[in-house]
Amino acid sequence: MEFDFKGQTAVVTGGTRGIGRGITEAFLKAGAKVIATYQSNDQAAKEFAESNKEYSDCLDLRSFDVTQYDAVEHFYRYVEETHGEFQILVHCSGIRIDSIVGMMREDDWRKVIDTNLTGTFNMCKLAVQNLMRKRYGRIIVITSPIGRIGFAGQSNYAASKAGQVAFVQSLSKEVASRKITVNCVSPGFIDTDFIGDVPEEQKKAYLNMVPLKRFGSPEDVAHPVLFLASAEAAYITGSTLEVTGGL
Ligand code: NDP
Repeated sequence: MEFDFKGQTAVVTGGTRGIGRGITEAFLKAGAKVIATYQSNDQAAKEFAESNKEYSDCLDLRSFDVTQYDAVEHFYRYVEETHGEFQILVHCSGIRIDSIVGMMREDDWRKVIDTNLTGTFNMCKLAVQNLMRKRYGRIIVITSPIGRIGFAGQSNYAASKAGQVAFVQSLSKEVASRKITVNCVSPGFIDTDFIGDVPEEQKKAYLNMVPLKRFGSPEDVAHPVLFLASAEAAYITGSTLEVTGGL
């Protein structure tokens, strides 16, 4: 599918590694300007910028912590001052810290909820303030099927991901009259650093659960995201698109 985002600007959080990197690259190839954000891995960001040198005029990298409301405010002020308008937010940053509930440290519960759920609120709240003025916008939040089906050892992650879906459904109703659509994309097992620590045996078991018999790639997720970000997806809002190989 050919996408054309010339003249549009997208903010992509977690946009320098993994799934977010695939999304940033797909937007760049489709002619968009992208402001890709990350938390602190400067090395990965530098390597990413290096391998996308040809797009350097269209790519801006910023680092901040999405859990910090003030930092998010500062970021959007920068975006308005430097880039003026943006039309698209893809909120992709996220973490997992696994443990069964009986053993979970309170801090690990909090960190995952803060990063995945409060981060979603922070990024979306300040984005809609901007998008409402222009009466157009596309917001896509990257959730996970784990929020729907649950997974032993991932109660914090599952709760945060289910929360994202509920948040998106509610927000979509608040901003629909301004022609802003808000949707989730829910990837299955995608081959990134995110699942890099999963033991090989466990990975084999995961693979057996996938009817298409392979892990997805960041590109597999990027194309559905670009579709939802396109003008043509105007009548889709409040929904979750699963990109799971049939999981
Ligand atoms: P990666 O670990 O490869 O990348 C995570 C990105 O999020 C990094 O850019 C990281 O920044 C950024 N990030 C993490 N915490 C923060 C924070 N507090 N503030 C700002 N940025 C932050 O993960 P994936 O690309 O695999 O996952 C991306 C999203 O997709 C997540 O929301 C995840 O839940 C979801 N997902 C992933 C699946 C998978 O199998 N990979 C399956 C289903 C959903 P930095 O580079 O500085 O560390």
